[in-house]
Amino acid sequence: MFDPMYLIMFVFGAAFGSFLNVVIYRVPLRMSIIAPRSHCFSCKTPIRFKDNIPILGYLLLGGKCRDCGVSYSSRYPLVEFLTGLITLVLGMRYGLSNYFIIFTLLSYCLVAIAFIDLDHMIIPNGFILLGLGGIVFIYFNDLLLIDWQEGATGALIFGGFLFIIGVLGEFILRKESIGLGDVKLGLVLGGILGAKFSIVALYLSFACAALSIMILMGLKKINTSNKIPFGPYLSLGTFFTLMTSTSSGENAIVNWYFRTMF
Ligand SMILES: [Zn+2]
Repeated sequence: MFDPMYLIMFVFGAAFGSFLNVVIYRVPLRMSIIAPRSHCFSCKTPIRFKDNIPILGYLLLGGKCRDCGVSYSSRYPLVEFLTGLITLVLGMRYGLSNYFIIFTLLSYCLVAIAFIDLDHMIIPNGFILLGLGGIVFIYFNDLLLIDWQEGATGALIFGGFLFIIGVLGEFILRKESIGLGDVKLGLVLGGILGAKFSIVALYLSFACAALSIMILMGLKKINTSNKIPFGPYLSLGTFFTLMTSTSSGENAIVNWYFRTMF
């Protein structure tokens, strides 16, 4: 049976995606994310409320400004669809729970981080501070089943592993592969995921990176001299971990691995 709750989750997520589009555009430029209101980048006319409906607003106007007709990037509805989908998937996985709220907010931040890193090759420190604040709040109020020692272990594993790979990469490839921004993000992600899920997320992040780099090289979109941001892969790996886990500490990928291997 279709639960109308899922529709609400998708719509809420898509609406939040609309806000994330503003964050992705403005935060790296150090602009305020509150004022001024969203406006057309070309003719500066404020976007009307009815045209600001997530996904539909874009589709109804054919991706163009109502006033001057300039085309908007298809990334805007894509981000809205993505956040809607993320909210829906996590809602189906965790139900209306602390886990759902924490993991959804984390995923929203990861969407913003992934796109900002793609555009500018940076992970703004604001997100790291937000994450650290979130971690203190989570453990202070006992919102997850894991305790703070488990969180600290996860942070050390996730951040530490990225740091070592970064140092090795710089030593071997003679260029920055994994930056300090990725290491800081790893500390935050590990702090929320705990040790076991950190290992799963790291594994999935590197698997996504390897797969996409092979595909992009095959399509001749990149070559070995390209610098590739790692934030999007950390985001993907972490989201796939959340999507395949349960609040009781099970993970479908880990279970599948042990069923198949042993
Ligand atoms: Zn316009």
